[in-house]
Amino acid sequence: MAKMKMKPGVVTGTALQEMFEYLKEERCALPAVNVIGSNSINAALQAAREASSPIMIQFSNGGGVFNAGKYLDNTNQRAAIAGSAAGAMHVWKMAELYEVPVILHTDHCARKLLPWIDGLISEGEKYYKQHGVPLYSSHMLDLSEEELEDNIKTSAEFLERMAKIDMTLEIELGVTGGEEDGVDNTAVDNAKLYTQPEDVLTAYDALKPLGNFTVAAAFGNTHGVYKPGNVKLRPEILKHSQEMVRKERGLSADKPLDLVFHGGSGSDLEKIHEALEYGVVKMNIDTDTQWAFTKPVREYMDKNHDYLMAQIGNPEGDDIPNKKKIDPRQWLVEGEKGSTARLVQAFKDLRSFNQFDLGL
Ligand SMILES: [Zn+2]
Repeated sequence: MAKMKMKPGVVTGTALQEMFEYLKEERCALPAVNVIGSNSINAALQAAREASSPIMIQFSNGGGVFNAGKYLDNTNQRAAIAGSAAGAMHVWKMAELYEVPVILHTDHCARKLLPWIDGLISEGEKYYKQHGVPLYSSHMLDLSEEELEDNIKTSAEFLERMAKIDMTLEIELGVTGGEEDGVDNTAVDNAKLYTQPEDVLTAYDALKPLGNFTVAAAFGNTHGVYKPGNVKLRPEILKHSQEMVRKERGLSADKPLDLVFHGGSGSDLEKIHEALEYGVVKMNIDTDTQWAFTKPVREYMDKNHDYLMAQIGNPEGDDIPNKKKIDPRQWLVEGEKGSTARLVQAFKDLRSFNQFDLGL
């Protein structure tokens, strides 16, 4: 199959759905990287350029707050909304210059954080009025800890509003293990770590008539990187969900669902590839890119230790200034390079490296 052609800029609406179809046909997926500001955004854009591929860039609630300033008043999620919106503006502006397509997304949103997404959709509606496109490509609601009925009811309400401005919704069914962004699921009952195909069918029936959505299904995946434990990755759960929806609703499409893989960091490559067979279009990566950013910064600090003890004075002389070594750009760029390299590896692991024609 010929490589899919895509234009630079933020991908929304039908173009996003066409891209998902292509990814499923080609059995590849895109990395979705959590960002916290311009350093991590630019590292992601550079990685997409090197991989000649679109990339998914996402803000978590904490990432949005951090982009606004961690100590800013966050009453009614105002800092999270403004920080996430400002980060999106940066992406809109820079994606053109890096000449890469970007899917702009937000990560987990539990019920107590709904005012954050509500506020971002309002920003999206304003943006749509001005530009004919939404600010974000998609948002995630994660009400997976609640009863299925409540999860779907709220998800449907949000999707109705989002579909009007060409946005896609990501939902979660079953619980991703581990801990992320202050949500601790390390003690969750094992059965909840595996999504039931019946639940996926229920969600499909409720949401499909309303608009476009993706499903983060739990198949033993966990946030963070831990010592291998008793939870096993079982990608066949994804296959069973696809089969159930296809058979029960008499669909011709082989893989009717667009699936999402959370907690990709530290996952076994063989299991990742198996998940790609079953219609995973996106894999979240956070802990691995955090480490890829921090490690070279630590190495910089270690290597230049004697030059970073004071503004003046180093092994070359007591009067020699250390200005060049102190400049934060010197070590932030090392973090950016580390993060970019790890993301390029993720494109290769997910088989999306060089799978698109971006005209570069
Ligand atoms: Zn997640």
